[in-house]
Amino acid sequence: MDLERDTPREECGVFGIWAPGEDVSKMTYFGLFALQHRGQEGAGIAVGDRDNLVVFKDTGLVSQVFDEPVLEALQGDVAIGHTRYSTAGGNEWENVQPMFRTAPNGTDIALAHNGNLTNYMELQREAIEKKLISANGVKGQGSSSDTAVVSALLADLMTEGRTLADAARELLPRVQGAFCFMVTDGRTLYAARDPHGVRPLSLGRLDGGWVVASETCALDIVGASFVRDIEPGEMVAIDESGVRSERFAETPRAHCVFEYVYVARPDSVIEGRSVNESRIEIGRRLSKVNPVEADLVMPVPESGTPAAIGYAEASGIPFKQGLMKNAYVGRTFIQPSDTLRQLGLRLKLNPVREVIEGKDLVVVDDSIVRGNTQRKLIRMLREAGAASVHVRIASPPVKWPCFYGIDFASPGELIANHGRTDSDEAISESIRTMIGADSLAFVPLEDTIAASNQPAENLCAACFSGTYPLGLPDGNPNADLVRRIQKDA
Ligand code: SF4
Repeated sequence: MDLERDTPREECGVFGIWAPGEDVSKMTYFGLFALQHRGQEGAGIAVGDRDNLVVFKDTGLVSQVFDEPVLEALQGDVAIGHTRYSTAGGNEWENVQPMFRTAPNGTDIALAHNGNLTNYMELQREAIEKKLISANGVKGQGSSSDTAVVSALLADLMTEGRTLADAARELLPRVQGAFCFMVTDGRTLYAARDPHGVRPLSLGRLDGGWVVASETCALDIVGASFVRDIEPGEMVAIDESGVRSERFAETPRAHCVFEYVYVARPDSVIEGRSVNESRIEIGRRLSKVNPVEADLVMPVPESGTPAAIGYAEASGIPFKQGLMKNAYVGRTFIQPSDTLRQLGLRLKLNPVREVIEGKDLVVVDDSIVRGNTQRKLIRMLREAGAASVHVRIASPPVKWPCFYGIDFASPGELIANHGRTDSDEAISESIRTMIGADSLAFVPLEDTIAASNQPAENLCAACFSGTYPLGLPDGNPNADLVRRIQKDA
């Protein structure tokens, strides 16, 4: 249970390994551990040994789903893993990935997905027409997710004499939206990234094997050396014949700029840019465009830390940790009592009184979505004796929902959306009043983009700008709301 649901929710993490002779299930387990921040609702691993393909998955954190005996039982040459947050489909066991299907030619396949598809309705209609899914979801699985629909369509194309590669070649050009797929038939590991490259996906090398993962931090944890990013619109196949690459589509890039701001781990590198360095640079830029006189700069840990370091460095104001985070209580399956619930934010963050008492503070956070956390945080800091609280946000105001794999909120719930027809200054002032800060400022979008070191035309920044490079999905009430708002503006 999320005690304080006021942050963007990451989507999913995917990991794949082909390494005969290695303990591939344990390496996948550790890879998923490194990707746990991308999804905490469910985890699963599929392992293949040429003859058999086995999937083990459940709801919960990676450490709750797997133990030593389970991992010992999962033996093979190739494995894929997934850590899930449900951006499509509910949080039931059926929706936990990898998805398992048996194709008409008798081949078993497992598939894991990170992202959100924009033509899900169209694919779902096709699957219903082909009688692969029923009104309740995919036949025999009950899953409602876009991943289950893609797995069903992919397996269905594997008729007599047709391989998984043949099926992927036919299906992938018809799948639209943000996706990184990891698929295996128990012999070969396939990894595919959508033509816009919205979500990151990297290839790494082991002695005698290969690894593909959502973030480079998952390559590091298993001792794989980074080789390259999987290209947008590229599918790689990995087995004893090596790494084979093919392109299934070419379109302009649209890497998610929010990966740099919030989603990815700071020790990851995306498209050649260190996430940590881009966050520090955002902090430097934030201090230049929004200076303030203060005694110390402190982050909202952990995600505000690199930007706070950059802010302190560029402003010359000392950096200190004025808030302690309990890293383990944020997601617990134990329901807190009413007394504990009232403490709310304190379960996660606690002020260090001797650091902040009597001080003018610059508090750096990564983003504001609904504003509830910041309101409570500022009250907590004042109660702990802060003389003034100046909030600096290391991203522009989040004004629009994401349809490509990050769950913020509906447009009406986004705090910056309350004043969407106003200037950014007016939005900032209305939020400042709501959260009770002495001052509030956001980093401008152009500085966020510059800090990522990517050309603006290669990025998606739709949640800040409202310009959706992959279009809006059909049959989605929030997308209809966005259409209406943009039409009326
Ligand atoms: S809308 Fe925002 S969060 Fe979603 S892909 Fe684009 S930049 Fe990333």
